[in-house]
Amino acid sequence: MDRRYFIKLSSAITTSALLSCGSNSKKAKPKKEITNIEIANMPDYPHIIFNGKDAKSVETINTNILIVGAGIAGLSAAVKLKDKKPILLELGDMVGGSAIAQKINGHYYSQGAHYELDFPDNYGKETLTFLSEQNLIHKEPGNKSWSFVDKQFYIKDKLENQSDIYGERMKELPILSAKFKELILSYNHRLPMPTTIIDSKLHDLNKISFEKLLDNLNIKISKTFKDIISYQMIDDYGAGISDVSALAGLHYYACRPYYTDEVNVFSPPEGNFYFANKLLNSLDKNSVHLNSLVTKINKVADTFEVKVFNIKKNLWIKYKTNKIIYAGQKHALKYIHPPSYDLFKNNQYAPWMAINFHLSKNIKEPFWQNDYIGEEKDFLGFVNSQTQYSNSKDTILTAYICLPVTERSLLLKYSKNAKEPVNKIGQLIGKYLNIDLIKQTKKAFVRLHGHGMPIPTTDYLFKDANDSRPEPKIIYAGVDNFRLPLFFEAVDSGLSAINHLTKIS
Ligand SMILES: Cc1cc2nc3c(=O)[nH]c(=O)nc-3n(C[C@H](O)[C@H](O)[C@H](O)COP(=O)(O)OP(=O)(O)OC[C@H]3O[C@@H](n4cnc5c(N)ncnc54)[C@H](O)[C@@H]3O)c2cc1C
Repeated sequence: MDRRYFIKLSSAITTSALLSCGSNSKKAKPKKEITNIEIANMPDYPHIIFNGKDAKSVETINTNILIVGAGIAGLSAAVKLKDKKPILLELGDMVGGSAIAQKINGHYYSQGAHYELDFPDNYGKETLTFLSEQNLIHKEPGNKSWSFVDKQFYIKDKLENQSDIYGERMKELPILSAKFKELILSYNHRLPMPTTIIDSKLHDLNKISFEKLLDNLNIKISKTFKDIISYQMIDDYGAGISDVSALAGLHYYACRPYYTDEVNVFSPPEGNFYFANKLLNSLDKNSVHLNSLVTKINKVADTFEVKVFNIKKNLWIKYKTNKIIYAGQKHALKYIHPPSYDLFKNNQYAPWMAINFHLSKNIKEPFWQNDYIGEEKDFLGFVNSQTQYSNSKDTILTAYICLPVTERSLLLKYSKNAKEPVNKIGQLIGKYLNIDLIKQTKKAFVRLHGHGMPIPTTDYLFKDANDSRPEPKIIYAGVDNFRLPLFFEAVDSGLSAINHLTKIS
């Protein structure tokens, strides 16, 4: 659910929230199953490594700096460092990480991070400068916020959002409790990004859950309103109001001036893969090694030998390097570099799944984002490509599903056969839109993100692992280095890794 829509409506409405909608009254019965399903390769590491045990080891590549992981953090670090010619290793067959996209009929559609909002002026100067140097954002005269250069990807105001709560199409959202609004307003302009620049006087908010803070302040909210807040926390942070810290929760609503200014939504059809691709384009392609799974980092004298399995070529490659920026997800450090793992062992990651439904026809009354809050708590709604600027004539609906941490193993099952979630979600969207979506789907594309998002639980933020790293020449980047799981934080974590690197050079 886009925050801007939520804040705008919830602060203005005084009457009943839920409106019964005619479009939901007719039942659209599924006629058949969707069977044409493509599952994006979720590399099964142990299997790959097992298969690779007899593979040849042919090459040794020497480099001064190795960057592991071509998500937004690794790409940002690589771009900032490009004069020093680092090598960027990525296990996938394309860059982007959790900001990845799927090519359908020659056009890319998001399968992960999919939108951004203008950045206020009080955000971190280093990251704002970097993004403007990449010609991604600029500051227009008289504006308080930095906006995106490619204006065509802003979503038109009226087409922004539509919501469905407990099976009812909502015209208006429930009134925001006056006390809740007062609380949010009291933090306006005090919670910028990156989170590393937040005043330390506010750090105590990281020690209790968002729910506990509301309880402590005696802020009463209705069950519906609590479900909406929890929905928004899961949507951005991978877990609900009782799991995320009060600081993360407040940050969601108070990081931008939603009450006083226009905060525009930027969402190209390929989502944040747009940024990944732009960063990639400013790199030397030969320095980006795809299909390269880092399996082990060994220290040899004052350097590192990094064991990498090339999934496509089915061979082992040894990289010898002086320094490493590790921007891959940290849970795998348990095997790759055990001394580093201790720093991250309490990280919790939300498992995510995205499904692109390629439809045979357009839908009526399109909205960009369609929020679904209902019995299926894991289903967080869908995005309709018709409202995004694109040269494509295809209509793609992209559904987002966030599973509880305890159900991560389901993704393993879905990696082999995703008929069950595809048809279940397809039916829900069909019911919402009153169309036979099962019949209208030409093909479904599934992307599984096993460790999609680090959850900002209590005590998570403000702990840069670089301050206590066991190997001074292995530096960590990525949102799972105790940042909020957001684009700006990912870029900033990549740039901040370079600052640590510069100190040891
Ligand atoms: C479904 C979903 C929706 C999201 N929506 C938004 C959104 O709308 N806006 C927003 O700001 N944020 C969103 N996010 C959060 C998003 O994760 C961050 O904004 C950011 O993209 C994270 O970047 P990162 O580089 O830190 O990590 P990642 O994107 O996780 O990148 C890590 C990279 O390292 C690679 N890697 C890992 N291990 C190895 C290894 N051993 N060898 C080689 N390579 C390795 C991975 O393949 C991956 O490419 C979303 C996340 C998900 C999962």
